[in-house]
Amino acid sequence: MKLLVVATPMGPLGSGRGGGVELTLSGLVAGLLGRGHRITVLAAAGSALDPACAAAELWTCGGAPQRSCQHEQRSAPITLPADSLLGHQWRRVLAEAPAAGYTAVINLAYDWLPLWLTPTAPLPLFHLVSMGSVNQAIDQVIADVAAWDQRRLAFHTRAQARDFTLPHPPVVVGNGFDLQAYRFCSQPGDQLGWVGRIAPEKGLEDAAAAAARLGQRLAVWGLVEDPAYAAAVEAAVPAGTLDWRGFLPTAALQAQLGACRALLNTPKWNEAYGNVVVEAMACGVPVVAYRRGGPGELVQPGLNGVLVEPDDVEALAAAVAQVPAIDRAGCRRWVEQNASRAVLAERLEAWLLNGLGR
Ligand code: UDP
Repeated sequence: MKLLVVATPMGPLGSGRGGGVELTLSGLVAGLLGRGHRITVLAAAGSALDPACAAAELWTCGGAPQRSCQHEQRSAPITLPADSLLGHQWRRVLAEAPAAGYTAVINLAYDWLPLWLTPTAPLPLFHLVSMGSVNQAIDQVIADVAAWDQRRLAFHTRAQARDFTLPHPPVVVGNGFDLQAYRFCSQPGDQLGWVGRIAPEKGLEDAAAAAARLGQRLAVWGLVEDPAYAAAVEAAVPAGTLDWRGFLPTAALQAQLGACRALLNTPKWNEAYGNVVVEAMACGVPVVAYRRGGPGELVQPGLNGVLVEPDDVEALAAAVAQVPAIDRAGCRRWVEQNASRAVLAERLEAWLLNGLGR
């Protein structure tokens, strides 16, 4: 197939502004290239493709990024800025993709416009939905596409898909990681880790409180999306509890992450998947998470981590004592079997072929 993959309009690939979608795009593109498909990626100007995606063509568009809809009211109307990057991307898709002979378009952006265009677009549009429900208008347009032809939609986890009104069981593709990019670490240090965008929906405050209860330091990696929130989390725990490590590219992140005894994962929202959960496991790091959203589905208690009731900081702190009983090699094995790029690509190909009626 000749496929056009449309990236997030939050910012350039490599900036971190796209959150987990940036890594998802690399896994998806590299995996589909590996199965012999021809790929073009349409992304924001300034984007850089992962070296594993070098065989893909890159188209870029300028323009103003979208605001993150998870930080608006659920009832917020759909808005586009002047000189909209999202608008430029979809004008280019509609103007150029049909004549250039693309079999289909895979949209990775969580935006109303491409979903709304789907029933009338001049070529098949598919959507890998990257978040749970955060906005009523997007809920509605997802329900509309599902009612029209649900085969055009895929989700990362069952927990995520349950947020939406779907007439049929969802296509669930998980996610796909380059196992070679994550080194297995059998001998961790003493530190606990936390990785994610520093924003309220990620619940860093609970992990910080658990670390404070245990009297341990928590290493924190991620893009500070909300500086006021980061300062409030810091102020709520004893000085020195948080060890801010910044936003690192995958190679550097995994090298430091592997040395953690455990990763704490404490989302306050219905996390669609939780890339960081699987990245930690790929390094051999067990994950102590809330039983909520994607992490609640990815963590297999006793095998690759521990689950506790959502928002229970005491239980979170207590669960760290169970981590030594978890085999770090088993964490890595789980990723190899369930979340490699090859596994993702097989699932994506089956989804596309089914949706194209082949
Ligand atoms: N990440 C990174 N460097 C960091 C911290 C995070 O590259 O220092 C990446 C991480 O690899 C993951 C993404 O940020 O792919 C966060 O994705 P996740 O699915 O956990 O959450 P999202 O931000 O999409 O809500």
